[in-house]
Amino acid sequence: MSSTLLSRRDLRFLLYDWLDVPALTTRPRYAEHSRETFDAVLDLAERVATEHFAPHNRAADLDEPTFDGRHVRLVPEVKAALDVFADTGLLASTLDESVGGMQLPHSVAAACFAWFQAANVATSAYPMLTLGNANLLLAYGTAEQVDTWVRPMLEGRYFGTMCLSEPHAGSSLADITTRAEPQDDGSYRLYGTKMWISGGDHELSENIVHLVLARIPGGPPGVKGISLFVVPKVLPGPDGAPGARNDVVLVGLNHKMGYRGTTNTLLSFGDGGHEPHGRPGAVGYLVGEPHQGLAQMFHMMNEARIGVGAGATALGYTGYLKSLAYARQRPQGRPLAAKDPATPQVPIVAHPDVKRMLLAQKSYVEGALALVLYCGRLLDEQRTAPEAADRDRARLLLDVLTPIVKSWPSQWCLAANDLAIQVHGGAGYTRDHDVEQHWRDNRLNPIHEGTHGIQALDLLGRKVVMRNGAGLAALAAAIGATVERARRAGGEAADLAGRLDDAVGRVGAVTRRLWGTGDPETALANASLYLEAVGHVVIAWMWLEQLLAADAAAAAGGGDADLYAGKRHAARWFFRYELPRTGPQFDLLESLDRTTVEMRDSWF
Ligand SMILES: Cc1cc2nc3c(=O)[nH]c(=O)nc-3n(C[C@H](O)[C@H](O)[C@H](O)COP(=O)(O)OP(=O)(O)OC[C@H]3O[C@@H](n4cnc5c(N)ncnc54)[C@H](O)[C@@H]3O)c2cc1C
Repeated sequence: MSSTLLSRRDLRFLLYDWLDVPALTTRPRYAEHSRETFDAVLDLAERVATEHFAPHNRAADLDEPTFDGRHVRLVPEVKAALDVFADTGLLASTLDESVGGMQLPHSVAAACFAWFQAANVATSAYPMLTLGNANLLLAYGTAEQVDTWVRPMLEGRYFGTMCLSEPHAGSSLADITTRAEPQDDGSYRLYGTKMWISGGDHELSENIVHLVLARIPGGPPGVKGISLFVVPKVLPGPDGAPGARNDVVLVGLNHKMGYRGTTNTLLSFGDGGHEPHGRPGAVGYLVGEPHQGLAQMFHMMNEARIGVGAGATALGYTGYLKSLAYARQRPQGRPLAAKDPATPQVPIVAHPDVKRMLLAQKSYVEGALALVLYCGRLLDEQRTAPEAADRDRARLLLDVLTPIVKSWPSQWCLAANDLAIQVHGGAGYTRDHDVEQHWRDNRLNPIHEGTHGIQALDLLGRKVVMRNGAGLAALAAAIGATVERARRAGGEAADLAGRLDDAVGRVGAVTRRLWGTGDPETALANASLYLEAVGHVVIAWMWLEQLLAADAAAAAGGGDADLYAGKRHAARWFFRYELPRTGPQFDLLESLDRTTVEMRDSWF
């Protein structure tokens, strides 16, 4: 029976027929790999996710973490699953062999991680955070910091967190107040409170490595005065073994709507709950140079943003597959044309309106998965393309796509979960089916790692205008190349190419019009609308790419005719039902509408 977590057929199609990931194995970094090794890690990920992560997804939701003032308790299956995960070596899959990694392409690793996110997004958050933390320290930490913190994280003995947010400073990190005072021995003592910290306390690992943003007194105000510190829960003892408790205290757990298996914490640093070396203050170690903290943290945040988009996609995908399975076995009603009430009922999948909901979900989740894997492929290009110009192009394109790959799946794969509930009818509104939990879990994704509104400001305020518009030009060129290929292919592909080309033209015109005002308030007033419209254009591009890949695979004698037909039909759906949504959005943006700006507080 095929999985209801993800579709292996789709992953095969995307990685091999479309992105041609095996071609990467001609590059030195991936020379040890082959399609067989990629298949083997995908098999491993599917098996461990199915057997060890999915079974406790509901249990960890119903029985959320608790804190009795001393210990944090989680259902035991979480630790058992994470121990199995650590043994797979998948955590270090993309890393260098020199640190115990597999040097797997990011595109393949993203597909592997998607299995865990679809099976149990809350349990998989622990390794995701740990990997992001390790990657940051590999990029900016000293050799000693890598030995002390990264190696045990990659072995699954220590887990990592990212501590940015404070109770009064979420979107506006410029306003954080946690302070870090330099000590004579080169270390720092930290004092402050961090809010919403995922994985901030638990007893799943020997130690927790917090990466904390804080201010060194006397530094510049705003984001230019933020530095980055490693602050462990337990300080290293003289022989490297865990020693005394650091002054990091769990004040309490947040009680969430979803994602419940991931502990979410209010942490206090340096309030005297513990006294390392005989006095209060959380001992921390500076990472990189002072005042470079936010730029360094972006290393982890950019990775986390792609990870959030991937998680949203995986949740949308599994909801889609579960609602499809339900629709195939739920008999209800008769065909619209059937007059005789004695005729047998049909499964609801036969009704056009149910097909509408399934097609919409398919177009959202498969479109989003394509974008996530495409971004993984860009990371591979950025890292290993033989020509510097290609590496630079990939970096630029990924920069522009990051707010989109974070936000589009967070919005539309959540919409897919909503439709999955609707397909289930009344059953979808109960806790007897997984789809309600998927919706609740997914509802986090437009909020954390930069809200939807903050991603919109990033796209319109920074990414499309950076380097004199080079970001937008790179996106237009990449889409333009697909349009050209589709035009040459002729037929339906050429027709869709014409529509995509028109939409890309509007992106350029609207961007110029918005910034032509010279007035940032007017330009950015409808940034979220811009993000949504550009996101739809990007996903239309992903669908045209998939249609071309399906045609090519069919022409080459590929044997999965239903998959190719399904891809063509979903592309058709997206261009007929979804892309036209952008027309009125672009009209409104072009009109420089100021309704939101002009609304007064007292009028609400
Ligand atoms: C479950 C969960 C897990 C989290 N995990 C972590 C973690 O591990 N580490 C960590 O550091 N943080 C974490 N966060 C924090 C998360 O990143 C913040 O919640 C998020 O950045 C928003 O900050 P806020 O909650 O303070 O909301 P606010 O910043 O107060 O935003 C409230 C609303 O106002 C809007 N808004 C705010 N400023 C602007 C602006 N300038 N322009 C337009 N709109 C604006 C926002 O878009 C939002 O809709 C987590 C949050 C949650 C809920």
